[in-house]
Amino acid sequence: MNPADSPNVNDAAASTVPANSAVPAGGSAPAKSAVPAGGAVPARSAVQGDVSDATVWDVVIVGAGPAGLSAALNLARARRRVLVIDSNRPRNAVTLASHGFLSRDGVSPMELRSLGRDELANYPEVEFRKTVATAIVRDGDEFVVTDRTGTSRSRTILLTTGLTEKLPALPSLRTFYGTSIHSCVACDAYEYADRPIALLGETDDLAERAIHLSQWSRDLIVFTNGIGVITAAEEATLAARGITVDRRAVQDVAGDRDGLSGIVLAGGEIIAREAMFVRPLWQSGLGYADALDLKSSADGLLVVDTEGRTSAPSVYAAGDSTSPGPQQLIVAAGAGARTANAINRDLLGL
Ligand SMILES: Cc1cc2nc3c(=O)[nH]c(=O)nc-3n(C[C@H](O)[C@H](O)[C@H](O)COP(=O)(O)OP(=O)(O)OC[C@H]3O[C@@H](n4cnc5c(N)ncnc54)[C@H](O)[C@@H]3O)c2cc1C
Repeated sequence: MNPADSPNVNDAAASTVPANSAVPAGGSAPAKSAVPAGGAVPARSAVQGDVSDATVWDVVIVGAGPAGLSAALNLARARRRVLVIDSNRPRNAVTLASHGFLSRDGVSPMELRSLGRDELANYPEVEFRKTVATAIVRDGDEFVVTDRTGTSRSRTILLTTGLTEKLPALPSLRTFYGTSIHSCVACDAYEYADRPIALLGETDDLAERAIHLSQWSRDLIVFTNGIGVITAAEEATLAARGITVDRRAVQDVAGDRDGLSGIVLAGGEIIAREAMFVRPLWQSGLGYADALDLKSSADGLLVVDTEGRTSAPSVYAAGDSTSPGPQQLIVAAGAGARTANAINRDLLGL
C-alpha cells in the first residue's frame, strides 16, 4: 500500500476507513496497471496526510452495460480507483442494431460496449474483471464483494446490472426476438411505420402500450392471449384510434428467414402481421445484493434518489435496475454519469 499514490486526501469517507484493513483471502488490491501507449494518466499527487487505503477500491461497479461503463469513465476521470465486475450479458444482445444513442444510431450492442471498453483502457484507475458477482456484504465502513474469482473491498458500491426479461411462452418467439419481435417501442417501432403490427402481452398495461405504439402504426392488433387485461372502456378508446383487440389464446408466431409473418392462434388460424411488440415481465436478478437490504419497488427494481443513491449509505444504482424507465441505452449511460458525479462528491463529503 502506498497512500501517497492516491489523490483522495480530502475524502470525508476516507477518514473513516480503517488504516490497516486487510484484503480477504483471494481478494485483490486495486491494480497499479501500466499506462497504455498514448494513455492519459492523471498526475498522482503525493500529498501529506492521505489516509485512503490502496487495498480498498473507491468504487466497485457491478455490471458493465452503458450505465456501468459510463459511471466508470466518469469516476476514472475523477481519479477514483474503480473495479468493474461484469458477466458480459448485455440485455439487448439479441438485437443486431441499437437505435437512439446519439452519434451511434444503428450500432450493434456489442460494438457499443466495445467502444466504451476501449475508452476505459486509457485509464489505469479502472480494472475489469469478467466474472459474476455473487455476494456483497457491508463490513464496517467498507464492503466486501465476492465474485467467482475471489473477494474485493470497496468504500462504495454501484449496482448497474440491468434487467433480464421473461417473455410470453410461445415456442418460436425467441427465433424472431430482436429482429422482427421487439420489446422497446421507442427503440424499434420507427422501422415499422404504418405497417401491420401486433402487440402481445399478459399484463394490465396493454392499452397504454397500444396507444404509445399507435404513434408509429395504427394498423395494430393487440393480443391478450386470454390473459392480458384490457377493460371495455380501454377497448373503446383503442377502437377510436383504429386499434383492434383480440382476446383469443395465442399458440405461436409464424415466419421464415425474412422475419415474422403472422400470429398463430390456438386452433391454427394465422393473423398476418409483419412485426410484433411484446410486453415482457422484468426480473432484476439482484440476489447477489440481498445482504444490503435495499429498498425496492413493487416490481422489484431498486428505489434511488435523483442522483442514484439507494436506501443504504454508500450504495448506489443506475440504469435499468432502477425504476422507472425509459429503458434505453442513452438514458442508462446518462444515469451512470450522474451517479458517478454523486459518488465522487459524497466521498468528498460535499
Ligand atoms: C431486445 C432489446 C433491444 C433493445 N434495443 C434498444 C435500442 O435499440 N436502443 C436503446 O436505447 N435501448 C434498447 N434496449 C434497452 C437497453 O438494452 C437497456 O436500456 C440498456 O442495456 C440498460 O443498460 P444497463 O447498463 O442498465 O444494463 P445492461 O445493458 O443490461 O447491462 C447490465 C450488465 O450487468 C451484467 N450483470 C448482471 N448481473 C451480474 C452479476 N451478478 N455480476 C456481474 N455482472 C452482472 C450483465 O452481464 C450486463 O453486462 C433494448 C433492450 C432489449 C431487451
